[in-house]
Amino acid sequence: MTDELDTTFTDTDTDAFDYAPLRLTIDLGALADNWRDMKRRSGKARTAAVVKADAYGLGIEDCGSTLYHAGARDFFVATVAEGATLRSYTPEARIFVLSGIWPGQERQVFDNDLVPVIASEEQLSFWMGTVAERGEHPCALHIDTGFNRLGLPLDDALSLASDVTRPASFDPVLVLSHLACGDTPSAPMNKVQLESFRQVSAAFEGIESSLSASAGIFLGPDYHFDLTRPGIAVYGGEAVNGVKNPMRPVAKAEARIIQIREAGEGQTVSYGGTFLLKRASRLAIASVGYADGYQRSLSGSGIPLRKMGHGGAYGVINGHKAPVAGRVTMDLTIFDVTDIPENAVRAGDYIELFGPNVPVDEVAHAAGTIGYELLTGLGLRYERQYLVDED
Ligand SMILES: *Cc1c(COP(=O)(O)O)cnc(C)c1O
Repeated sequence: MTDELDTTFTDTDTDAFDYAPLRLTIDLGALADNWRDMKRRSGKARTAAVVKADAYGLGIEDCGSTLYHAGARDFFVATVAEGATLRSYTPEARIFVLSGIWPGQERQVFDNDLVPVIASEEQLSFWMGTVAERGEHPCALHIDTGFNRLGLPLDDALSLASDVTRPASFDPVLVLSHLACGDTPSAPMNKVQLESFRQVSAAFEGIESSLSASAGIFLGPDYHFDLTRPGIAVYGGEAVNGVKNPMRPVAKAEARIIQIREAGEGQTVSYGGTFLLKRASRLAIASVGYADGYQRSLSGSGIPLRKMGHGGAYGVINGHKAPVAGRVTMDLTIFDVTDIPENAVRAGDYIELFGPNVPVDEVAHAAGTIGYELLTGLGLRYERQYLVDED
């Protein structure tokens, strides 16, 4: 008995990934392919890579360096801290910081050679003062064309473009704007924003311009300007509503099944007893819960979304679909495996939560959200494995 235990605990040949309760596989080859696909679709425009929020939850270090090796030389992050992290993996790249700069961040910005994206009048005057004092440093200008989130008002931007009194050390290298409805090609707002941005681009003649994220790239060459900024599509997510997603899946999340249990007709499953078994059932208990970003809104029953008639989430075990039964809990989720042949699902097997067999956006939609939110909310408990790009 003791001997057996000893061998179990001293087994150093096993890779943690092989027995992890929860694991995430990130296919860096698919990531690089998706970026090249975005580059091809961007035509004459240069293609950046958006790696904010730890590369959409998939790891800025591995994803950033993979994209750099694939040829990306322009990167966008949300914060100065993210830019400082990225710098060590992308030595020659231009790193744009979408939230701009605040007093106190000058050192990090200059030391890491980051390009702040100036997004408001206050930031603009602070930045003018900073470069007047410290000397020339590139910046980008975000101009609002209707999103009403970040950016200088259109008229202010146009007068800035013709302002001859601005200091010589002020060196905008890019003007950008962001589409509100790029994921809906028929939305009239796309054209309105395009027209406004054309004015901006013309006013800042000689300075590069950028309008499109992933979705905008699919709107065609009119929307590409000099630089495109794909994020979600590079990570395999859906960029355009109602169109089959052409990207390769990048992330696969899997949870280990801790036990298979039998339950009788008339019994209920999980908190609240909201899932009533209409037949004798087999249930697989998987080690994933809402603390792992497998949101409670993915529950099979007992939440408002299900009462509205939307279907719940499902996973795939050895090629078989299994729906979520009852409420998702913090660390555990129950899947109904009654319809799966008994020998095709065992304790210790892994269930795919999303990945090549379960589109990440389909799961997200079951939770009433989008792939972006699912990916960026995965939490800290996944054992990660990066599949390396062979070419
Ligand atoms: C997040 C973001 C992007 C990337 O958007 P995707 O939809 O993920 O391609 C591009 N530009 C700006 C300003 C953003 O905030």
